[in-house]
Amino acid sequence: MTAATIISGKQISEEIRKGIALEVEQLSKQNVRPGLAVVLVGDDPASHVYVRNKEKACQDLGYYSEVHRLSADSSQEEVLALVDKLNAQDSIHGILVQLPLPKHIHEKAVIDAISVEKDVDGFHPVNVGNLVIGDDSLLPCTPAGVIEMIKRTGIEIAGKHAVVIGRSNIVGKPVSLLLQRENATVTMCHSRTANMAEIARQADILVVAIGRANMIDASYVKPGAVVIDVGMNRLENGKLAGDVDFESVKQVSGPITPVPGGVGPMTITMLMQNTLLAAKRLNGLA
Ligand code: NAP
Repeated sequence: MTAATIISGKQISEEIRKGIALEVEQLSKQNVRPGLAVVLVGDDPASHVYVRNKEKACQDLGYYSEVHRLSADSSQEEVLALVDKLNAQDSIHGILVQLPLPKHIHEKAVIDAISVEKDVDGFHPVNVGNLVIGDDSLLPCTPAGVIEMIKRTGIEIAGKHAVVIGRSNIVGKPVSLLLQRENATVTMCHSRTANMAEIARQADILVVAIGRANMIDASYVKPGAVVIDVGMNRLENGKLAGDVDFESVKQVSGPITPVPGGVGPMTITMLMQNTLLAAKRLNGLA
C-alpha cells in the first residue's frame, strides 16, 4: 500500500501568504494598509498564545495591528465601548474578539456589536446569514481554511460525499455549508448520531471537529478517503493532538492533514485574507 499524502497546511499557508504580501504591496501604492485589532479579555493562556500568533502574522505581512489586552474583571460595557471605538476607527479594517470571554460578559452581545464589514471572524449573525443563503460574506476562518486546503491540494469536491463530524457554530455547521456550496453531498454527525463509524466510512471527504483527542481511528475511514482533522487537543504531556488517530488512519486514508501543521496555520492565514478583503472593501477597492 502506498503511504497517504500529507496535506501540509503550513506549506499551503505560506503560498497563500506570498500572494497576500504582493497584494499588500499593491495596496500600499494606494495608501491603504490593512489593519487588524484584536481584543483579548482575561488571562486564558491558550488565548494569549493565539493572539501572539495573530500579532506576528500581522507583522510578517506588514499589516497595521493593535492588541487590546483587558483585565478579566473588565465589564461588558467597557468591552462594548472598545468595539464601538474600533468600529469607527479608519485604520482598523478587521476586529477580532478572542473567545472565550469571561463568563460575566455576554459573548453574543459583543459579537453582534462588531461592524459587519469588520467582522473578520465571520461570526456576526449577518455574515452567518449570508453564508447560509449563499450571499457574499466574510467567511469564518477555520471553515474557509478547510475548503481552501482541500482545493489547493487539487481535490475535487463537487459530487463527493462529505461527512462532517461536529456541528458547532464555529466549525462543523459552517464547514458543512461551505462543502455544500462546493457541490458536495453533505452528512453531519454529532454526539447523538447513531452508527457514526458506519456513516463516516461512506465519506469520500471526512472532516472532523469534535474536540476528542485521537477518537477517530481507521474503523471510521473508507480506504482512500480525504481526512481533514480540525481538532486541537492539548494532552497531559503537553503535546498537541488532533481528533483523528493520525498513525492508524493514515494507513487506510487518502490525503490527510496532520496536527500540528494542518488546519491550524490555515486559520490564521484566512484571518489575514479576510482582513485584506475587508480593507479593500472599506476603501472601495473590491
Ligand atoms: P465544540 O463547540 O465543543 O463542538 C464539538 C462538536 O462535536 C459538537 O457538535 C458535539 O456534538 C460533537 N461531538 C462531541 N463529542 C462527540 C462524539 N463523541 N461523537 C460525535 N460528535 C461529538 O467544538 P469546536 O469549537 O467545534 O471545536 C472542535 C475541535 O476543533 C476542538 O478540538 C477545537 O480545539 C478545534 N478547533 C481548531 C481550530 C483550528 O484553528 N485548527 C479552530 C477551532 C476549533 P453535540 O453538538 O451533539 O454536542
